[in-house]
This record gives sequence, structure tokens and C-alpha cells, in this order.
Amino acid sequence: MTKYALITGGARGIGASISRELASLGYCVLINYKSSQQRAEELKKEIEENGGSAELLPFDVSNVEEVDNAIERWEDSHPSEYISVLVNNAGIRNDTLMVFMNNEQWDDVISANLNGPFYVTRRLLKRMMTKRWGRIVNMSSLSGLKGLPGQVNYSASKAALIGLTKSLAQEVAPRKVTVNAVAPGFIDSDMTAALPKDELVKMVPAGRFGKPEEVAALVAFLVSDSAAYITGQVISINGGLF
Ligand code: NAP
Repeated sequence: MTKYALITGGARGIGASISRELASLGYCVLINYKSSQQRAEELKKEIEENGGSAELLPFDVSNVEEVDNAIERWEDSHPSEYISVLVNNAGIRNDTLMVFMNNEQWDDVISANLNGPFYVTRRLLKRMMTKRWGRIVNMSSLSGLKGLPGQVNYSASKAALIGLTKSLAQEVAPRKVTVNAVAPGFIDSDMTAALPKDELVKMVPAGRFGKPEEVAALVAFLVSDSAAYITGQVISINGGLF
């Protein structure tokens, strides 16, 4: 039976590495995107050329109607199957000091980074619980653990995602559904491309930014059968930067 994994924001950055990794493990990956249609199509083709399988599932995670409609359509076209792995990876940042932060900057970041995982997870939970096997991984951040100046919106969203992770883990553990969070430090991607890397890297004990593939390897472990007894945890991946 085909196993399906949905990766939000799965077409580029860390999400694309997770899509590749889970496809290499035999999952049919459902690559969600909001704007990166071309990147998503190219990634699907690449995965298929390597012998894997992928489907595209576009929606804006922060729009509850789009989330519900897209997943309902998928479920209608796959009546006897279910999405057993969900990686809530989609996220944005919009940094500024709080004293200058407008409502839109606050709302946009909370909507994508916190409301998004709520909408998507709620929609997939019932089937995971009925089937008595599921894996949910939420992409938090070092910023959600320690807070970073200029990121009150982002830090708040990522810290709240940790709270969601810990509560939900306790709700669904009896149904063999695990819920964990991953908290990356600085990882090479579009999100960090404009940051002053030479300066920031001096703060990282490992002396470098992490690679998206390294985050993907951690996610792959958390969704494996071997990780069945790990739930409600936040796993940092940060080269020693706290
Ligand atoms: P990225 O390169 O900027 O990619 C962001 C991804 O999120 C894109 O695939 C984008 O899809 C998707 N996305 C954003 N808003 C969306 C929405 N409303 N609906 C659907 N998809 C949406 O960022 P990244 O570095 O790969 O980050 C991935 C995750 O890791 C994020 O949650 C981020 O906060 C977290 N993280 C990153 C770092 C880091 O150093 N890079 C550190 C800690 C945590 P489209 O292109 O289709 O819009």
C-alpha cells in the first residue's frame, strides 16, 4: 500500500530536501506550495526520474478554505488511502523591531507559521487517529526557543508551535500518532540568504550554517517506525548555537 507524506512548503528550501528524502524512503510525497509552482513541477519530475513518486498539492496554509478544499479533493480521489505523515514546514519571516511592527507584519507571520499548521493538522488528524498510525513534524526554530531581537512575530509563532506540539502529542499518543517539533538554527536557504552570514557564522560553534539535507535527515528519523516512542519533543539542530 502506498504511504503518503504531505510536506507544506515542500517545493524549495528545507521543504524540498524533506520531499526528496521522504521520496527516497518510498513515500509518495505530496508537495505543497503557495507560489513556487515551477519549482514544485521540477522537483516532482526530479523525484520521478529517480524512481520515486510525487503529487502536487497547492494551497496557502494560512487560508482555511484553501486547506480544507485541497485536502478534501485529495481524499475524494484517494478514497481508501490516507496521509500518514505531515511535515508542517511552510513558514515566513518578516523582521522588524516591535516598536515599528505593524498589524499586517504580525498577522501575516502568525497566520502562516501558526494558523497554517493548525488548519492542516486538524484536517489530517482524524484519519491518522482512525488508522492508528501517524507522524507529525512541526518546523519550529531556535528563535522560538530563545527569542531573537527583530523577530517578536516569528519567535512568538515558533514558540506557540512548540506549545501546540506538546499538547497535541498528549492528545493523540494513545492512537500511535507522534507529534514532534524540530528547531533549526541557521540553515542555508532563501530565508537566510540575505543575512550577514560571515558575521553570524562566528556565533555558531560548528563554524558553519546547517544544510537543508541535515534537517531532512532528522525529519526522516522522526517519521520512522524507530521513533515511535519519541513524542512531544523539540529537537534542536543548530551546530551548538543556543
Ligand atoms: P524558505 O526557503 O524561505 O521557504 C519557505 C517555504 O515556505 C517555501 O516553500 C514557501 O512556499 C512556503 N510557504 C510560505 N508561506 C506559505 C503559505 N502561506 N502557504 C504555503 N506555503 C508557504 O524557508 P526555509 O529556510 O526553507 O524554511 C522552512 C521552514 O524552516 C520555515 O518554517 C522556517 O521558519 C523554518 N526555519 C528555517 C531556518 C533557516 O535558517 N532557514 C531556521 C529555523 C527555522 P512558496 O515558495 O510556494 O510560497
